[in-house]
Amino acid sequence: MTNRRGFLCGVSGALLGVGGSGCTLSPPKAASRDYFAELGLTEFINAAEPYTMLTGALMPREAVEAYVYASSRYVRLNDLHDAVGKKLAEMTGCEAAMVTAGAASGLTLGTAACVTRGESKAVQQLPDTTGLKNEVIIQKAHRYGYERAVLNCGVRFVEVETREELEGAINENTAMMLFNNTNDPDGRIKVAEFAELGKKHNVPTFDDCAADVPPKEHLWEYLNMGFDLVTVSGGKGICGPQNAGLLLGRKDLIKAARVNAPPNSRGIGRGMKVSKETLLAMLVAVEVYLQRDHDADWQEWERRVKFIADEVSKIDGIKTEMFAPPLHYHVPHLRILWDEAKLGFTAAEVKEQLRMGTPSIEVRSSPPDRIELGVWMLREGEDQIVASRLAEIMTQSA
Ligand SMILES: *Cc1c(COP(=O)(O)O)cnc(C)c1O
Repeated sequence: MTNRRGFLCGVSGALLGVGGSGCTLSPPKAASRDYFAELGLTEFINAAEPYTMLTGALMPREAVEAYVYASSRYVRLNDLHDAVGKKLAEMTGCEAAMVTAGAASGLTLGTAACVTRGESKAVQQLPDTTGLKNEVIIQKAHRYGYERAVLNCGVRFVEVETREELEGAINENTAMMLFNNTNDPDGRIKVAEFAELGKKHNVPTFDDCAADVPPKEHLWEYLNMGFDLVTVSGGKGICGPQNAGLLLGRKDLIKAARVNAPPNSRGIGRGMKVSKETLLAMLVAVEVYLQRDHDADWQEWERRVKFIADEVSKIDGIKTEMFAPPLHYHVPHLRILWDEAKLGFTAAEVKEQLRMGTPSIEVRSSPPDRIELGVWMLREGEDQIVASRLAEIMTQSA
């Protein structure tokens, strides 16, 4: 199953005209109007992650072209949703798909689908769940910030820790079982067992994989494992529009999610509109993403990590290590460590200087005693800038 998309994998990024690796990697062109400067905004180098606060990832040129293409044409929104969904399902090998206004929106619409099953009276009454199934089972270790997007549907969580507790918690009010994929290592019930339990008891299971692509296989692996729904952010690893996401899974549930979404003005998701431009750009972003040479991307990210590590290791007392988080942002990163008392400067000071300097540089959030860099959002040549700024700051501070 890992090679389902194998027929596409031979096509290299270069063939498609995608420069370098990662998302859009060429440095920004001089614009005819410098809009951010006009607004008095400072741009920065993203040595962090595709964080929402940092405006996510950059789109490949092909996705931007699709966005512009759609911007001067009319098309019926439902027809576009149908066509894009069908194409996405084909490309990912899943039953059905839709573009949502981000993964958080995917969580809301997927939950609304499980609660209402697309039945029009139910759709119109949410978040009032009177007379509807309104319990969502979640492992205690999987509670997280984005759960709010699920609770918006008027459901309540039933917390469990063990398989026995989970099976005991299922009743006629159970609407769905929610899995927060990143927290898989923390829960007692692992991902495959969770899916299996849903199947056994005929309860829809939903896996939030928002930041867990790459690897690309996560777009279908969990569905093949037995999950009924999976949501992924558009503007993180896939490098689509930041206000897009994917909801993938069972045909009847995707259909029900659509009833809760625009253009239906009575659905709970009416405020989660996805424009034709975003719909098309997201489709093309997924196309480009699936056709990338993912091994070459990984090697390029490792090269950047090593390059920066080599530069800062020249400074006495600086230690570096390469690491890849197991699920969330599963790509090569750099960790920089030193004895703050010995060297006489703190990681917090270095981060502040990186941010306040020219160019401004953002790094990943980490424990306070270290600096951690993500290199996959860097544009061409920015690894060198990050390395020399770090070396400069550390040498001057020491
Ligand atoms: C980022 C994230 C979300 C929200 O995704 P958006 O695409 O920004 O709406 C949801 N869940 C998890 C685990 C995330 O990391």
